[in-house]
Amino acid sequence: MRAIVAPNEDPRLVYQTCINSIRKESLRNRLNAVDNTIFFAAKEYEEKALIKQLYTLTASNYKKNDIVLGAVTKAELTSVYTDHMVGLNKPARLIYDKLYNSAALGKCPFCGFSSVSTLDHYLPKAKFPQLSVVPMNLVPSCSDCNSGKGVITATTAETQSLHPYFDHDHFINEQWLFAEAIQTIPITIHFYVQPPDHWDDISKAKVKNHFLNCDLNARYKKETTAELASLKNTLSLYGEIGASGIHAELTIRAKGYFQLYKNSWQVAMFQALARSYWYCNSDFS
Ligand SMILES: [Zn+2]
Repeated sequence: MRAIVAPNEDPRLVYQTCINSIRKESLRNRLNAVDNTIFFAAKEYEEKALIKQLYTLTASNYKKNDIVLGAVTKAELTSVYTDHMVGLNKPARLIYDKLYNSAALGKCPFCGFSSVSTLDHYLPKAKFPQLSVVPMNLVPSCSDCNSGKGVITATTAETQSLHPYFDHDHFINEQWLFAEAIQTIPITIHFYVQPPDHWDDISKAKVKNHFLNCDLNARYKKETTAELASLKNTLSLYGEIGASGIHAELTIRAKGYFQLYKNSWQVAMFQALARSYWYCNSDFS
């Protein structure tokens, strides 16, 4: 996971910018009438997010034409996002773009390597339609992580997915992602989670669930394929540097990536390769 500074856009202003582009006056008026409720839902979201208790917010199971707030249906609320925030020519698209571009290097904060391709509703709009355009609930994401999180709503602290805007610094500042080099032909890398012992049980469970829900082992494994082939060629060019030379080179690469992010597949992979006696003793020629 990568941290992103939480957006500071005023949720009421964002909501108003969205609904002001609605041409149908009766719909605009009905949506305008629940403006305060949206604002208080956003306030409650922020309060719960700051204490890592978003799982305590109650999910709704409304059908699309059910009235959710005032005289507004669920479908009307969620379309404020799809039609009036995502829409390319809508004024609120500027806010969408700002959130979309807030991820460092355009990389998804949930997996750390895929490119951002959407905004993820951290609490899904299907279950929390009142949060459809609340900026703090909209996180840039790749499509795989977005679909991995799905519409399942956590009801316990342990199953709450990591929140790039609000979660603990220790998910960023301490290493929890590791890997093992498996002696196959060609070599394969197996990724796993090993949280620091001193973490609380909730943090340990959360990061394990995050790893599983985003299918990170399989997805990181795919990334390693091209890197391992290139690495083999590079190491062959070093000539006779021996196992200790190979180990030193791999260790330096791991440290280099570690300085950028402590939990990237590259850090875990190069550490695993450096630890592997048989890999360091391989004939790269
Ligand atoms: Zn992702």
